[in-house]
Amino acid sequence: MKRIILLLVLFLALSSRLHILNADIIPLNVIEEDYYDYVELPPPGSVMTLAAHNHDISAVPIFAMQHPQTTITQILTPNETNSATYVIMASSFISEVSHFLFQNNRLVVDIFNAVIAVEEIESLFVDDLLIDGISVISYEPDITRVVFDLADHMGLEYSITLSADRMRLIVSFASNTITRIVTDIGQDWDSMTIQGTIMQEINICNEGFPYYLTVNLDNTAMVAGNGIFLGGNFGARYVTGQREDGTAYINIFLGQRLPDYSIVHGTSYAVLTLYQAIPPFEPIIVVIDPGHGGEDPGAMHFGMLEKHLVFDISMKLMQLLNNNPLVRVYSTRYGDYNLSRERRAEIANSIGADIFISIHVNAAHNRNAHGIETWYTIGELELEGTHNLNSRQLATTMQRNLIRFTGANDRGVRVRDSMVVNRDSKMPSALVELGFLSNRYDAELLRNVEYQRLLAEALYNGIIEVLMTYFL
Ligand SMILES: [Zn+2]
Repeated sequence: MKRIILLLVLFLALSSRLHILNADIIPLNVIEEDYYDYVELPPPGSVMTLAAHNHDISAVPIFAMQHPQTTITQILTPNETNSATYVIMASSFISEVSHFLFQNNRLVVDIFNAVIAVEEIESLFVDDLLIDGISVISYEPDITRVVFDLADHMGLEYSITLSADRMRLIVSFASNTITRIVTDIGQDWDSMTIQGTIMQEINICNEGFPYYLTVNLDNTAMVAGNGIFLGGNFGARYVTGQREDGTAYINIFLGQRLPDYSIVHGTSYAVLTLYQAIPPFEPIIVVIDPGHGGEDPGAMHFGMLEKHLVFDISMKLMQLLNNNPLVRVYSTRYGDYNLSRERRAEIANSIGADIFISIHVNAAHNRNAHGIETWYTIGELELEGTHNLNSRQLATTMQRNLIRFTGANDRGVRVRDSMVVNRDSKMPSALVELGFLSNRYDAELLRNVEYQRLLAEALYNGIIEVLMTYFL
């Protein structure tokens, strides 16, 4: 029997290294057949009745040191801030403590080499959901025995801690128990399922350390042991433990910088998930290029100049795009000045535009020519483009929307090699010809502000369709 006890103590001493603050945690799952009265409890020190338990835990005997006899002066009952902790106060150093669980409903704490200041405290008044009563008796001339009557509470756990100055014995009870921790690994996430009873407040912090995450569980007994995230994406390993204030903790040591995390919990579990943060949404950058400007008026018919007309339509389009948070829009020109075609492409390239749209109106010797057409050029650089959008698709989408909105004569999508604006730009680009200024019918439409607004809306819808189809 003694050998078994010795082995047990050795095992406990070794496994105690996993625990911090030398805390004892014993689940109260002992099943005993007989009922004994207090006086029939086994004599102190002669029994090592460790609670039978289902969990992989360790109970650590508090380190014994010989000191002159001390006096137990009082027992502090729980205050409002820490409802499950009792503090047994001594007048000087406590030499030795042992404790055991009797039946399923009594925790017996023997304090050796200690007398009681008051001869016998019959029964302390206790107002606690977890404890029905406390008795303090002198067991032998120099042993003070404190017996906690435990309320019938499934999963009740306790821990006993001797303060660093050895003058306070802290007995904590918790109805929260973390019994098991299970890790799971997904393709781009790691999760930790914390199993236990009656989860209360769960608090997560990383204290500013990028490779570290702590899960704190108030008023909880930690029974689950340490573990690793086998093959994890973010988590590497975790260490469990107990603090003197009754808080249980799980320290997660991350294999990389802190990912995003979330925690959900019910009454008997909590799931912590680590996952890679989704990068914040980057708006699609659209560059609108109103043709001509300054000394280059573009087409001139019926008292209208192309440079002014396309600028007005472009600004209406910009206004629509500016109100859409999915888009960030720029113009190549914001006034009546000219830019070379190369310069316009350069601006779009330097901004990092995703889409480039040049706005023009047509003119022809044949005054009967009318309608809308869209041009594009297959540029060398554009072939490297992302998002699977090419200039032909962009042009097609713009043309389709322009015709749908205006009902204009559909002159189709056309490809051209010599269009410098499109050829030099590194992103899908299109050039829209919104009508023939040389045609009386088209010219009168283009002069109308409402028709200009309709064209702007058609272009806006084309851009949004492209965005929805190719970027999102
Ligand atoms: Zn033009």
